Amino acid sequence: MRLEDDIISVKGVGEKTAKDFNRLGISTIKDLVFYYPRSYKTYSEPVPVSSVAEGDRVAVFCKVITYVESHKGRRYNITSLSAADDSGSIRMVWFNMPFLRNVFKKGDSYIFYGIVKIKGSMRVMEMPEYFTQFKYQSALKTMQPIYPLKSGITNNAITRAVTSVKDLIVRIPEYLPENEIENRGLMTRGEALMQIHFPGDEDKLKNALRRIAFDEFLEFLIRIRSLREATVTEQNFHKVTEEALVKKNGFISGLGFELTNGQKEAIRDIETDMSSEHVMNRLVQGDVGSGKTVVAVTALLMNAISGHQGALMVPTEVLAVQHYDDISRMLKPYKITVRLLTGSMTPKEKRTVYQELKEGICDIVIGTHAIIQEATEFSDLGLVVTDEQHRFGVKQRDKLTSKGHIPHVLIMSATPIPRTLAIILYADMDISVIKDMPAERKRIKNCVVGTEYRPSAYSFIKQQVRDGHQAYVICPMVEENEITEAENVINYSDELKKELGSSIRVEYLHGKMKENEKTDILRRFVDRQIDVLVSTTVIEVGINNPNATLMMIENAERFGLAQLHQLRGRVGRGDAQSYCIFINVKKSKESVERLQVLENSNDGFYIASEDLKLRGPGDFFGIRQSGDMDFKIADIYNYADMLKLAQDVSLEYGKQFEGKIIL
Ligand code: ADP
Ligand code: MG
Repeated sequence: MRLEDDIISVKGVGEKTAKDFNRLGISTIKDLVFYYPRSYKTYSEPVPVSSVAEGDRVAVFCKVITYVESHKGRRYNITSLSAADDSGSIRMVWFNMPFLRNVFKKGDSYIFYGIVKIKGSMRVMEMPEYFTQFKYQSALKTMQPIYPLKSGITNNAITRAVTSVKDLIVRIPEYLPENEIENRGLMTRGEALMQIHFPGDEDKLKNALRRIAFDEFLEFLIRIRSLREATVTEQNFHKVTEEALVKKNGFISGLGFELTNGQKEAIRDIETDMSSEHVMNRLVQGDVGSGKTVVAVTALLMNAISGHQGALMVPTEVLAVQHYDDISRMLKPYKITVRLLTGSMTPKEKRTVYQELKEGICDIVIGTHAIIQEATEFSDLGLVVTDEQHRFGVKQRDKLTSKGHIPHVLIMSATPIPRTLAIILYADMDISVIKDMPAERKRIKNCVVGTEYRPSAYSFIKQQVRDGHQAYVICPMVEENEITEAENVINYSDELKKELGSSIRVEYLHGKMKENEKTDILRRFVDRQIDVLVSTTVIEVGINNPNATLMMIENAERFGLAQLHQLRGRVGRGDAQSYCIFINVKKSKESVERLQVLENSNDGFYIASEDLKLRGPGDFFGIRQSGDMDFKIADIYNYADMLKLAQDVSLEYGKQFEGKIIL
């Protein structure tokens, strides 16, 4: 057996199982070995029944105190029994497992392991695992990998298959010299991969994960290095002209506000880059609301006046339309043709834009992924800008740059990556950071409250609307299997209309609406034809309506801090005082603590670091999943030390390990 062999050559994998594996993206043995568990299940010492609370995942050591009942329910066959320890009793329930009737005997003791639900005054465990005391002792010592699954395949099937290829895993080649492994205190690759699938204990697993994170970073850094070498030497074919620099000054003085120092510096950097001998590759980092758009527009303007085309790519249609509206307005005084290009436009509309791009009639195109489709050709693409970059990957960016002859690249990002790490991760780019917020900005006032505060929140909305402002209400998320998200938003806005009275115009927005319906609602909201917008989190990315001063977030405890920070970033974008009301429905100690972080700070970097402390490993801002840093294990917050180590190694060894790191 070799890593490249088809999955079907694994012992015990037949044609059907092979197909199931294929659906998980596993077609070779290599794919299987690098298919990592999503998490690990660890069993814990049993606790007294009286101490359990809703949602706890626990083990209890109980005696069966009733006969086992089994009957046909409406949808399932239900098997149940009552069990108790000295402190209290708990009901065990299983679905469609009638054979269990013959497993348990009244009077016998077992360890039950599962998630607790409280139904009325009764404690219940649904589908608990059960063990004899003896068996549980050995289970206690192991960590069971839990693999990401799709229907058709079980966790056991994956475990069995991985077990069959153990010999191969152990022999995965090590590319680092022995002394490096030793001096840097790293686990070997073979051992690390073994530990990932068959963890010995928590410490070993931790070391294994660190090793894999190191490999992922190193591979990434080697790739980045190649990109860097390719770009720094690239000639600048799209220099800005004198005329462009003059017009740019006029544009900035006509903005109606003074740029912040951060914005001025970013623009100066861009200007220098675009006038230099080499092509620009720049990342502009700035928290939500720091005013990145105007920086991007200035670059697009200079590029257009210099006679070249520019493209601005954003992750959602709604954001594309909004940027299009804003930028067209800002550039109106200039002879610049700005066009929109999105997936939901009609084929005819798209064809017109394609034509104009090809003939060089269109100077700036703003859109979604539609811009990088086959059909788009530019006459002379000089500048490529991507906004909210953490949603795009290097590949998509490359696809866009390949539409021109070495265009300048500008990336706008609100992802709060500490500078020391950003320098490493974006080694192929120069970085400008906008540290300051526009001066007249008042700090958003936050409050975290319970549901009893709702009536006051509603009267506060009324007051804000009376004062000529607008409000967002972010709807609670729906529980699985309940009503759909759309129904939920519609119901909530109906209720809200009743609460607020007919003089206040309430509309709703949710993800299932057609793109043109969404953009229509948003345009009307920005035009102030709507007072209160009830929405799901679809408004999270980049939407800008400076007249909106109030945001009320229902079920705030269910969101991640990072997402709440992004949501809140929709207000506080104008001169007026803004407010954010977080409704904490559940009020657990943990959610109160988490939300307090937001109540006390409006700083993305601070929130990112606190979020980590409270939540532990997480996919903050979706960095781990983001296209750019597509790591399976590594993330820059939890493995910052591995990133630095990988940086050291890559500096020392250059590209020596290129192509040798199997991931
Ligand atoms: P983000 O960095 O989140 O993309 P935007 O570029 O959308 O932020 O800017 C948010 C709002 O702030 C916009 O309404 C914009 O016109 C305004 N703005 C940007 N820069 C300044 C400034 N220097 N002074 C005042 N308002 C500004
Ligand atoms: Mg933005």
